[in-house]
Amino acid sequence: MHMLENTSKFIPEDTIREIRETCSIVEVVSGYVSLKKAGANYQGLCPFHNEKTPSFTVNESKKFFYCFGCGASGDVFSFLMKHDKISFQEAARLLAKKYGIHLPEKPLSPRQQKRLSEKEQLYKANQAAADLYHRLLVQDSRAKQALQYLQERGITGETIREYRLGFAPDAWDTLTHQLDHKSRLHAGKTGLLIDKGTGRYYDRFRNRIIFPISSVSNHIVGFGGRSIGPGEPKYLNSPESAVYSKRHNLYGLHTAVRHIQKENRVLIVEGYLDVLTLHQAGAKNAVAALGTALTEHQIRILNRYTPNIVTVFDSDPSGVKAMVRSLEPFLMSAVSPRVVLLPPGEDPDSFVRSNGIGPFRDQIDKAELLLDFVIEKTVEKNDLATPNGKVRACNDTVPLLRKISDSLERDLYIQKISRRIGVGEAHIRSRIGAQPRHARPDDGPERQQKEKPAYAPQNAEKIIVHLMILHTETIDIIQDKALLEDFTNDDLRTLGTLLCRIYREQGTLSIPYLMDTITEERWKQLIAEDALRNETSGSPVKILEDCIRSIRLKKNSRQREKINLLLKQAEANRDESLSLRYQHEFQTLLHEKRDIMQFKLNFHQT
Ligand SMILES: [Zn+2]
Repeated sequence: MHMLENTSKFIPEDTIREIRETCSIVEVVSGYVSLKKAGANYQGLCPFHNEKTPSFTVNESKKFFYCFGCGASGDVFSFLMKHDKISFQEAARLLAKKYGIHLPEKPLSPRQQKRLSEKEQLYKANQAAADLYHRLLVQDSRAKQALQYLQERGITGETIREYRLGFAPDAWDTLTHQLDHKSRLHAGKTGLLIDKGTGRYYDRFRNRIIFPISSVSNHIVGFGGRSIGPGEPKYLNSPESAVYSKRHNLYGLHTAVRHIQKENRVLIVEGYLDVLTLHQAGAKNAVAALGTALTEHQIRILNRYTPNIVTVFDSDPSGVKAMVRSLEPFLMSAVSPRVVLLPPGEDPDSFVRSNGIGPFRDQIDKAELLLDFVIEKTVEKNDLATPNGKVRACNDTVPLLRKISDSLERDLYIQKISRRIGVGEAHIRSRIGAQPRHARPDDGPERQQKEKPAYAPQNAEKIIVHLMILHTETIDIIQDKALLEDFTNDDLRTLGTLLCRIYREQGTLSIPYLMDTITEERWKQLIAEDALRNETSGSPVKILEDCIRSIRLKKNSRQREKINLLLKQAEANRDESLSLRYQHEFQTLLHEKRDIMQFKLNFHQT
């Protein structure tokens, strides 16, 4: 197996460094997120949380990204790992290929083999199962009925091969029997096998057509199984596992992704066979949610590739209900999808088979906005000829309006509904205002502002930490002058000490490394903000001089205050000798203060 070979090699450190230095993080991230230049950085909508104002920031020269909204951060490797849910090795391989860097991969030592991530083991188990089920579908006589079913649904042999469709015979141990003890453990973790509790397993999928579900990065993450006989449920899916979440994956996306981008449109259908029929007929931009209503996360994934989302439902009552329900996650994601309602009883699969792809495409081109559709459905239930009906229609649409997160869009709909129902806009507005709009868990500039730690540039301690991050050459001076010891802010002292330690150990302070190593979210944020700001204006040495002076003056004044207090006590107690001692100490501190005022860093001597 090709994949098996790939995952059991490791990549030398030199090559990793070469990849890191060669590739442009802005270019790589741009493949997923639309970035705009903002000062020294690039900004875009964060792919890791839901937002409407860009707080996802990428810095090319320091080769890292940071999101001010959710705190996601890292270098180009961690971006790909996080985004595509792939391993470090896979990310490195992807980048090496993109930038034409040769990968001299070596076989893993037994110890490294052991450390092979669990995820990769699970992918391997899934791949092995998919291969077995596929072989059974095309070769085993028990698959006759399954093949016949697929043929009746117009699925071609080519599609069966391309999408690795499979067959699980009506037996408890088909897969179990094929796997050794260790592989069974992994297949148990992906839910392919079910543990009887005694370390003995049986097959989850029996007498079913198997649809492997791939991630965008082309790993089989889970399976859907359709029963052939009377077996219930009709559709059985893999349970959630370390590699599979039905809310985060879409059936067919791995193949559809290129076509979605090319056509700048995605079709969302309901079932596996809908996807396959459409792909087969040439509409390769179709995907399906996996046995659930579309989630916000899935919408976010699709929205990364295109804003033009068309959902397809059939027009029987349950289809219409599903359609109305589908609106909310879209509103929450600030995405306006369109909707196609196929004739009652038809799904895309049956529609395309009886009418051809042409009429289906016509339907797609005529798709109306889902929100318009739902509002119309909501309004038309009421008798607008009566005042009572108007009030009800108005009340019914208000909850929808509240969920529209874009204020301009909301306003336009208020105007539209006001005309449609025949009530004044003010009435609708006052009803919307009566209850605050559902608070969103993110975005909104006010909230972001509030969450940023106050960064007062006047504060010498903060500026010193800032200098350490941006001008590592100052770290030696800072250590030499034991400046951190005089910090009054414990938090900054701890952070400064940590930076010193990392700098001593690494010989450098790479921002991606810091982001990886430091676990405190507020420190990460502080470092990211520092690193993303434009460079310090003025000479770092001059700024450091000012800071040293300010910190020492502060310390000196604290000491003088203390001595002054002690002096007063001694005088009150008429303790002459003690008074004299404190007077002397006070004088010394005053001299020291004059020295501090004249303090200059001799850069060449330090
Ligand atoms: Zn974010």
